[in-house]
Amino acid sequence: MNTVTYQIEEIDAKETDAAITYAADVLRCGGLVVFPTETVYGLGGNALDPAASAKIYAAKGRPSDNPLIIHIADPKDAEAYTYTDPLYDSLAEHFMPGPLTVIMEARDNVPREVRAGLPTVAVRCPAHPLANRLIRAAGVPIAAPSANLSGKPSPTEGRHVRADMDGRVDVILDGGAASIGVESTIVKIEKDGGLLLLRPGGITVDDLRAVCPDIRVADAVTGALKEGQTVLSPGMKYRHYAPDAPLFLLDGDTEARIAYVKNAKGRVAVLSYREELPLLSDRDDLILLDVGGRQDTATQAHRLFSLLRDADALSPDVIFAPLPSMEGMGLALYNRMIRAAAHQILKL
Ligand code: AMP
Ligand code: MG
Repeated sequence: MNTVTYQIEEIDAKETDAAITYAADVLRCGGLVVFPTETVYGLGGNALDPAASAKIYAAKGRPSDNPLIIHIADPKDAEAYTYTDPLYDSLAEHFMPGPLTVIMEARDNVPREVRAGLPTVAVRCPAHPLANRLIRAAGVPIAAPSANLSGKPSPTEGRHVRADMDGRVDVILDGGAASIGVESTIVKIEKDGGLLLLRPGGITVDDLRAVCPDIRVADAVTGALKEGQTVLSPGMKYRHYAPDAPLFLLDGDTEARIAYVKNAKGRVAVLSYREELPLLSDRDDLILLDVGGRQDTATQAHRLFSLLRDADALSPDVIFAPLPSMEGMGLALYNRMIRAAAHQILKL
């Protein structure tokens, strides 16, 4: 397949209008379009066309039992595809458009391919102006997972999308770097009126609790291990968002982490907090990658997936990174990192 790539320089330029018009036509005709959002790039198809969903799963190499998120241009449009309720309305009022996905009971017009046979469907209204304009121009909701090959780190820049999707999709709209850099927060509205957090993201648990005090975090978010399981539980089947080189998370204070990295064998890449970079400078064969200041979780989220890809490009034998805290935005980082590391956490 020939992929047409548009480099979007200005959101209001004539060329941008032409690119959106073409991409919207492609979507309506059943094709695939990669588009930027504020979280990560999305791999979109017409959500009402089952054949388009099948193409999305094929392009990503994604198992078709993993449902897709429907992207809408206006929070009110959710009513056409789901049975919304007052809790949805208040979530929409506080957080939409933005990085929040809400799972609710699906109406019959949502193809089972989109929801992977589940009775529910996930809905999100992205804040990125290009995403918003593309959905409006297409005139249909857009089903879109992250635009990476299944298992790889999510794409946060046009170059990541081209590396994974060139030749697999009809159009790529390259709108530059994603501002948030980790995928949307996903919540499910439960039958009892509470919220279940299924994936942490840019909207934090505290943000959500302010709107709905009855919120529970699903065990899988922190990878809580069942009794009898060991802390170190490697295994490719848990790997997701993953670089090619093995990634280990270091759980210890600065001193312990620095000492560990300095003694590690082989070609070593390190994702390091900015304050700690100077402490590693006397071992000059390390590949050092700055993840941002220790407290600056927004920058860490913005850089995480890009750094994992950058680290891989330098062919290290191993990658080390600090285990993130679970506070605020840290929970989203923690959730992605434990999967990227296949739960390989080294307690120092
Ligand atoms: P991605 O689009 O790659 O960010 O992945 C979408 C995520 O949303 C996946 O983790 C799905 O399992 C999840 N998801 C989508 N729809 C549903 C649903 N109806 N119920 C539970 N999870 C869902
Ligand atoms: Mg994904």
